[in-house]
Amino acid sequence: MSLTLADARIVTPEGVHEGWLTIEDGRITHVGHGSAPGPGLSVGGRHVVPGFVDIHNHGGAGGSFPTGEQDKAREAVALHRRHGTTTMMASLVTDSIDGLARAAASLSELCEEGLLAGIHFEGPYIAKARCGAHDPTLLREPSPRELAELIKAGRGQVRMVTVAAELPGALDTIRLAAAEGVIAAVGHSDADYEQTLAGVEAGASVATHLYNAMPPLGHRAPGPVAALLEDERVTVELINDGVHVHPAMLRLAYEVAGPGRTALITDAMSATGLGDGDYVLGPMRVRVADGVARLVEGGSIAGSTLTMDVAFRRSVREVGLSMPEAVQVASLTPARVLGLADRIGSIAVGKAADLVVLSDTLEVTGVMKDGGWVTEPR
Ligand SMILES: [Zn+2]
Repeated sequence: MSLTLADARIVTPEGVHEGWLTIEDGRITHVGHGSAPGPGLSVGGRHVVPGFVDIHNHGGAGGSFPTGEQDKAREAVALHRRHGTTTMMASLVTDSIDGLARAAASLSELCEEGLLAGIHFEGPYIAKARCGAHDPTLLREPSPRELAELIKAGRGQVRMVTVAAELPGALDTIRLAAAEGVIAAVGHSDADYEQTLAGVEAGASVATHLYNAMPPLGHRAPGPVAALLEDERVTVELINDGVHVHPAMLRLAYEVAGPGRTALITDAMSATGLGDGDYVLGPMRVRVADGVARLVEGGSIAGSTLTMDVAFRRSVREVGLSMPEAVQVASLTPARVLGLADRIGSIAVGKAADLVVLSDTLEVTGVMKDGGWVTEPR
């Protein structure tokens, strides 16, 4: 089975060109300029971009990954796929060790099915002072031995763990993660500049939602933000929903880290795709008003109701990225973080046919995953 998409504006990290591409057995086999050599499905001059890759996502459509419920998780994945996310992680929030192990074991089955790209433990090894929407009573000191058990519970599917670098045991825990092939991320942290760099030196390579849940930039106290932005080994996650981070600070991060070290994430929670109302994030009660999720107790921002198509559009419209830069931060860079850039993350021969068709106003009009339509282009 071969399919040619014609009359496309194909966006790659190198540029945008008018052309066509052919898909066979779920992969991209040809990418060409100008008119397609044979019959094809016209996408009417619309942009075709690679499927989005979201490395930090808690759910959607009423489904919450932290519960580990498979049916609900499937609905969340389906929602995000309709919004163009063809690869996503399931992020768990702080819970008891047993609770985390159970959820990870359950979700590992969806990873094996190819619905999820892995499991992310965002807690419990985070700082009380910066715990955001995580339950402060369940936070723990980082423990390599305990993390090894959690990794085992995830049956080979744990891909990321967030650790606050300043906590006792943090550096050994980061080293254990790196040795196990699990990405160590620093975040939800009260660390200073030097403590953050020590975390990177120990093997941390991702900043969990840069700016959020960490001390701000200060001219005498540069803190984690400066350390994470300037260290070439670190990819910074950014939540571009217009609520979590001001567009000027997004521009600053893009300027310093560049699209090769910047990954858009949603940090989406279960209310994503639904209306305002009352929800939960792990054990915490959350109220969504005007699309903004906050804890009922205390009012901390509790994840987002963002989808990657909106984050992508905002990056072009509000932040000023070019389309080639936007496909890097929404697809290629996060794919590289996951070690999957040889298979996904850009429109290139040999890669999976994970594609999003976007209208002139950058609304999703079609989504393809592994060569099959999730949504046929309108
Ligand atoms: Zn999160």
